[in-house]
Amino acid sequence: MTLGDSVVAEVLVEVKAKQINDTFSYNIPDTMRLEVGKRVLVPFGSRIVEGFVLKIEKKEVDYSLKDIIEVVDEEVILNQELLELGTYMSKITMCNLITAYQAMLPKALKAKKGTHVPKKEITYIVLLDDAYAPKNEKQKELLDLLKEGPLEKKELEHYASSMKSLLQKGILGQKKKEVYRLDYTIETSLVRPTLTEEQEQVLEKIQKKENTFAPFLLHGVTGSGKTEVYMRLIERVLEQEKEAIVLVPEISLTPQLVETFQRRFGDAIAILHSRLSEGEKYDEWRKIARGEVSIVIGARSAIFAPFRNLGIIIIDEEHTATYKQENNPKYHAVTIALKRAKTHHCPVVLGSATPSLESYTRAKLGIYELLTMKKRIYRNMPKVSLIDMKENMKKGYRIFSKELLEALEECFHKGEQAIILLNRRGYTTSIVCHDCGYKVTCPNCDISLTYHKKINAMKCHYCNYTTAKPQVCPECGSHHIDEFGLGTEKLEEEFQKYFPNVPTIRMDVDTTTRKGSHNAIIQDFASKKYSVLIGTQMIAKGLDFEDVTLVGVIHGDASLNIPDFRSAERTYSLLSQVSGRAGRAKKEGKVFIQGFNLDHYSIVAAKDHDYEKFYEEEMKIRKILQYPPYKNLGMIRMISKDYTLCSKESEKVASYLRSHLPSDISVLGPTLAPMPKYNNSYYFQILLKYKKTGDILSAINFLREQYQQKKNITLDIDLSV
Ligand code: ADP
Ligand code: ZN
Ligand code: ZN
Repeated sequence: MTLGDSVVAEVLVEVKAKQINDTFSYNIPDTMRLEVGKRVLVPFGSRIVEGFVLKIEKKEVDYSLKDIIEVVDEEVILNQELLELGTYMSKITMCNLITAYQAMLPKALKAKKGTHVPKKEITYIVLLDDAYAPKNEKQKELLDLLKEGPLEKKELEHYASSMKSLLQKGILGQKKKEVYRLDYTIETSLVRPTLTEEQEQVLEKIQKKENTFAPFLLHGVTGSGKTEVYMRLIERVLEQEKEAIVLVPEISLTPQLVETFQRRFGDAIAILHSRLSEGEKYDEWRKIARGEVSIVIGARSAIFAPFRNLGIIIIDEEHTATYKQENNPKYHAVTIALKRAKTHHCPVVLGSATPSLESYTRAKLGIYELLTMKKRIYRNMPKVSLIDMKENMKKGYRIFSKELLEALEECFHKGEQAIILLNRRGYTTSIVCHDCGYKVTCPNCDISLTYHKKINAMKCHYCNYTTAKPQVCPECGSHHIDEFGLGTEKLEEEFQKYFPNVPTIRMDVDTTTRKGSHNAIIQDFASKKYSVLIGTQMIAKGLDFEDVTLVGVIHGDASLNIPDFRSAERTYSLLSQVSGRAGRAKKEGKVFIQGFNLDHYSIVAAKDHDYEKFYEEEMKIRKILQYPPYKNLGMIRMISKDYTLCSKESEKVASYLRSHLPSDISVLGPTLAPMPKYNNSYYFQILLKYKKTGDILSAINFLREQYQQKKNITLDIDLSV
């Protein structure tokens, strides 16, 4: 190796380095063809690791560099735009650059050993020598078949021995062809509804801004026909030979939307979501990278789809919490969408019936253009009644109110369908000793275990710890142990006591563990095999059943008790969304919300379908407490298995922040997190309220580097709480 000028590759590898985003230089062997954005294998200490090539440059080196061992990819997997996007993301979320890149790629393409997923290939048998004279009847049959054209090897098993000998003789040959694991065959239809006036207007306003960066907030009530607007926008984008990204909260929950898109656009669509196998994800990703599809529908991470010529980005139900990733990188899909749209000069459409307060405020400030659709396509909004359970309890109605029972009766009598929501899964929510008050909790998380009748065991909903139900109190030996609380499993049982002949189906985490189970439940309910769908928040969003005329909500006020500044917003949104499932087509809808404290403004506003009113009330509180959107909220979590260490280090971090941040930034804490123990680790938190992110970056970066290599404690940063 000569010293002096050399063509050098800068490679980002996943190793713990002092300087967080350092790359390492490697020599490119003369025979190697390498491009920026590919993965390579490189020597690192005594190991061989995989990394991303971020730069190739001529450089003067005064020491001898090691050679790159091998190029992993045939195709560039991180194009220039995605490389820059990763840098941007690592800056705004304060994650390591490599973490950012890995979040952008399907697992099969992450620079990590042992994650490789092979391409799926089919082997074909082809006839190479058609002048060959068969030696027996079997050979003749086989050759005759192959004269028509190549055939799949696995279909020729019947001729296995003839095939083998003819392959050996070179009369036949094998050819491999790559296939995609997911192949959608849905009949497309050219029938499109005539747009309503509201839909027309919205469409026109967005299309006026085509080929420019323009963010829109589409505030359209449930059933106002937002999906049709999205599809028309995409039709236009395809005409321009551009591409579209459509994000939905959780794709397994919205099979109807996917099907609607597939009927309109056929196989121009790739689908990306967490329920796909790694191989399926890899295939869908490559369809996009190779330009074989023009539309992707997917959950959060589909925002990184490697399209090159985006014409629009659509984010449906933009208020949904799942658009924010909760582990590193803690990015928000809307932020990434805005960044990509700026690069591609295209519109972004954020759609919701219940916009997040942040988005609505931005619309009011003119940062987003506000578009509204106030009317449902077919009928008026459903009539919502609030049902006081204190009164019902007195009359002996404990779970279902008298009002809801009567409405259910009438609904089934007319042959219509109902949806009942209870946002708690399991059978009962806690088990408590009558005599000493002992409560059965998770040893890893210190939180109540939920009893599940079907498996006759108690389960932690956070870490999945499972244990048998005690027969006597483990503390005092008493037999008086009682079950408290209500989950969907018990709700279904109770329902069946009232309506033994009404077929019910339940949808929650426990009934949807198998792949395709969401879809099966939704299909069966749509085909009216069942009259009632009981479930958790899973059933609140996006579903469209024309015969659902009744929605019941049990414990509609329960979510207000969650200690989170967004609990009122989540309550308003959940109630509005689930109400929105009733009366979406030609029949009128009714909604009953049961609870004990129903006079909260979030519940009253949901009843009146009055988003503006909710917004106004909630903004008053956010202002007093200086919560978003008035100020940004950043959270630093200290996590350790050692309680004392965790507490002490949190104090240190807080006092460092107090002395190094400008005085107008409030530093709150440290306090134990609302969920203080999870999986045997303790959680302390420090909250920061600040106006400009730039003001806190350097102090936080300092802390981040301090804790980067510590073994017994983790410092975790979330700048978009
Ligand atoms: P949203 O997403 O706003 O809640 P959807 O897009 O699901 O509402 O539309 C509600 C229903 O109205 C769907 O069944 C849809 O097929 C239908 N629909 C939408 N636009 C039209 C239209 N212009 N004419 C007739 N039906 C429509
Ligand atoms: Zn006891
Ligand atoms: Zn647990």
